[in-house]
Amino acid sequence: MSSKKKSIPNVTKAGGLPESKGHRQAKVRMQRALEVAASTPASDIPVGAVIYAPDGTELATGVNRREHLADPTAHAEVEAIRAAVRALGDSWRLEHCELVVTLEPCAMCAGAAQAARIGSVVFGAWEPKTGACGSLVDVLRAPGALFVPEVRAGVSEAQCQELLRDFFQNLRTTPRK
Ligand code: ZN
Repeated sequence: MSSKKKSIPNVTKAGGLPESKGHRQAKVRMQRALEVAASTPASDIPVGAVIYAPDGTELATGVNRREHLADPTAHAEVEAIRAAVRALGDSWRLEHCELVVTLEPCAMCAGAAQAARIGSVVFGAWEPKTGACGSLVDVLRAPGALFVPEVRAGVSEAQCQELLRDFFQNLRTTPRK
């Protein structure tokens, strides 16, 4: 996982300046997403997502279960979005909610967040191969997009990368049954 940082307008970068209240909150929420990621099934790449209501209440969590369920759409973000909509129970909209996820969302997940009208997306590690929030493409801020959530990238990035590195290292050192 390389540390790829692009100068995209409304992406808030860490480092240099004193931490804003928003960044401190994002880091606290990312710790929760990391905790959630720890419950990813052993066969799946660990990714954790949490959705917060506008008042800061935790609405739902999700982990990557693609291998476990043999479902290509069972990414952490999609699972969390579905659960958050069920938790609210009145609409498909997650307006002014925040999606916090340990890895840069892919095109499907960024699209799902946009479709749910999520107000802001916070992610940890950049994903150079499939990331759709600035790495490979930028689904959330595509020109002419009807709805553009706020994006905060690279929050607790080192910790989020470490989680993935550990997983892939274990894959290499543990012989497959
Ligand atoms: Zn995804």
